[in-house]
Amino acid sequence: MSLTGKQLIGGNFSATGPTTFFAKNPATGKQLECAFHEGTSEDVDGAAKLSEECFDAYRNTPPQKRSDFLVSIANEIMALGDDLIQRARAETGLPEARLVGERGRTVNQMKLFAEVVLEGSYVDARIDQGNPDRAPLPKPDVRSMKIPLGPTAIFGASNFPLAFSVAGGDTASALASGCPVIVKGHPAHPGTSEMVGSAIQQAAAKCGMPAGVFALIQGSGVTVGTALAKHPLIKAIGFTGSLQGGKALYDIAAVRPEPIPVYAEMGSTNPVFILPQALQNEAAALAKAYVDSATLGVGQFCTNPGLLLGLRSAEFDGFIQEASAHLSQKPAGVMLHAGIKSAFESGIEKLTSQSAIEKINSGDAGSGECEAAAVLLKTSAANFINNRHLEEEVFGPSSLVIECETKEDMLNIARNLTGHLTATVHGSEAELLENQELIQILEKKVGRVLFNGFPTGVEVCHAMFHGGPYPATTDSRTTSVGTAAIQRFLRPVSYQNFPQKMLPAALQNENTINIWRMVDGQMTRDSI
Ligand code: NAP
Repeated sequence: MSLTGKQLIGGNFSATGPTTFFAKNPATGKQLECAFHEGTSEDVDGAAKLSEECFDAYRNTPPQKRSDFLVSIANEIMALGDDLIQRARAETGLPEARLVGERGRTVNQMKLFAEVVLEGSYVDARIDQGNPDRAPLPKPDVRSMKIPLGPTAIFGASNFPLAFSVAGGDTASALASGCPVIVKGHPAHPGTSEMVGSAIQQAAAKCGMPAGVFALIQGSGVTVGTALAKHPLIKAIGFTGSLQGGKALYDIAAVRPEPIPVYAEMGSTNPVFILPQALQNEAAALAKAYVDSATLGVGQFCTNPGLLLGLRSAEFDGFIQEASAHLSQKPAGVMLHAGIKSAFESGIEKLTSQSAIEKINSGDAGSGECEAAAVLLKTSAANFINNRHLEEEVFGPSSLVIECETKEDMLNIARNLTGHLTATVHGSEAELLENQELIQILEKKVGRVLFNGFPTGVEVCHAMFHGGPYPATTDSRTTSVGTAAIQRFLRPVSYQNFPQKMLPAALQNENTINIWRMVDGQMTRDSI
């Protein structure tokens, strides 16, 4: 498809602003075809009004129709074919196989939410039947379920141009919940965004959805994002990206006359704890798996294992040597854009300029503008405890090994961690049992605890929790991956003593839609 470079609002491409920007191929440094118009506050206002106008119609679409819409989005994305993969490749420098895999994840995620909408129990229907004869006071009939929040603004990250972008998990879960969506396109991949946005628009038209159900506004600065976060008709924000960006939007939303929830998934350094028995056998394989995880996708994953802790020993020295040797073989990787590469390099420079940080080894640095070398660093537990900045994310292919003198060092570091998306423990099952205190600490610090694995690769499923205490996210109670993500865009409403006919189908005595409900404290699909 040929790109327009315009905003996609109300089912049409239009542009009110004169300023344009271009995407750049990070692998070649060349400017890519199509000038993209910067969105304006008029664009944001127009999209927000259309979104609000269609909210009631969209939230009241029958589950089958909304589910069909999500499946249709998945089909339209696939119908973009190789053009989508090639544009995403040119805009991000990510390899074709990775992008094909990410597209699969994106469309399967849409289809999974289509199933959630049909299954229907996500509305959390609860019925407490009234009892007019109760003494001393009659018991009212109280029923509750969740309804969508309203027009939602979604911000995608640069490192997942498909799965965490225009039709990513935030958009899928918001649309599934019944919220119209306005996406602020990431400026690093505007062509990919426009193609996927068009696919959503096609699906909306084919499924008879109101045109205001989806909009895409492009922008290469904070103007569009700020206007969206401030707009009174926007009722929630989903964000994936940097700590700086997520916190800025959270702060804007918090001081609005009507504050709104901001679900920002941000950076994390995902500590990995190596217990001694993990090094008894297969230490070399473990070291290789660690380096592969830390350098996967040029380290541009929020689940990158950026910290690794072990107890000082000959075995741990051997592990570090194996990791170092494997890392030195890593070819240079093309980072997503020049800004991310320079932030990575200055982050590493800042770390290595400190005397207590040892650079163990690095990989090939390459020569391209966006190419970066993988880096392995080391420090002591005492130094880590005394320097809180060492816990901060340096987004890219690096990891910091922390050598602990005692088990108490490990526990002390764990106790002092801020919030992270994940924590991992390697060891034997017997060691895990012996280290329950460590697990007890870690489950208070992170959203996902792993045993004998690495955190990169986040399965999209019903039980996945991808989140964690601040600064990993701005709301530790919610996930941005997996079907539970739909809950972010819903809120409960109780109906007291309502006539049957006036209740939503999910709350009527006759369970015509066959969903799980809590009736007088018991889960059931039975009608009353
Ligand atoms: P980013 O720079 O924060 O950008 C994300 C989006 O937010 C962009 O559209 C950006 O627009 C907008 N934005 C940023 N700051 C803003 C502000 N102050 N006001 C309004 N809008 C603002 O993130 P990124 O560089 O693409 O992504 C890399 C980061 O994402 C890494 O730190 C990584 O760990 C994190 N990440 C987290 C997860 C997770 O699930 N937790 C997943 C993937 C990535 P402009 O660029 O136009 O300003």
